[in-house]
Amino acid sequence: MTEDTLAGRLADIDARVAHAARAVGRSPAEITRIVVTKFHPASLVSELHRLGVRDVGENRQQEFSAKVGDVGPLEGLRWHFVGQAQTKKARAIRASAAVVHSVDRAKLADALDRAGDGMPPLDVLLQVNLTDDVGRGGVAPDELEGLAEHVAGCGTLVLRGVMAVAPLGQEAAPAFDALAGYAERVRRVAPDATWMSAGMTADFAEAIAAGATHLRIGSAITGPRPDRG
Ligand SMILES: *Cc1c(COP(=O)(O)O)cnc(C)c1O
Repeated sequence: MTEDTLAGRLADIDARVAHAARAVGRSPAEITRIVVTKFHPASLVSELHRLGVRDVGENRQQEFSAKVGDVGPLEGLRWHFVGQAQTKKARAIRASAAVVHSVDRAKLADALDRAGDGMPPLDVLLQVNLTDDVGRGGVAPDELEGLAEHVAGCGTLVLRGVMAVAPLGQEAAPAFDALAGYAERVRRVAPDATWMSAGMTADFAEAIAAGATHLRIGSAITGPRPDRG
């Protein structure tokens, strides 16, 4: 058991990720571990960066934009936006995100695209809703290919693949297997869309087994989220 420090928890998770990858015949090198830092202060991001972390994630635009400002420029740091996004916040998100994981409708894609005038291309993933609850965010699977075609036509967006959150209170493995099937459908539209963002603290091993390329891990690394009062 590693010491309970940020560095220790990070090393522990990376060892578990590597183990889960090798267990299914995958190379850990093909997996990007994003540390989700929501509800934690900017200082945690700086500390993670000193420990070599280059990919961090946030899920709410206001906290995201404020934290980006507080952290300031850090060599090689990539911000991933992983939360539900309001169309009117697209410009603020685009201003700081290297990747947006949660594109789930054409309107949001268009807003992100319009906000990209004169900016480098933005990597985007299509969030798929694996539940029947529309409030959970994500495009319904039967609308996925239409959205993929739309995003592929957005000049400043690069369609990289799919993202999903496992349904609450259900086995993650079948949900992630379904997601892998949806990812394949997206690749019929955009053959280079090879990313699959899936897996959090509770289910990253199942996600790796299903082919996840990007894990979004929060509490196992950052510790419990501070009480938001
Ligand atoms: C918070 C969050 C995570 C990380 O969750 P943990 O259970 O803390 O690992 C991953 N993805 C999204 C979209 C999140 O909002």
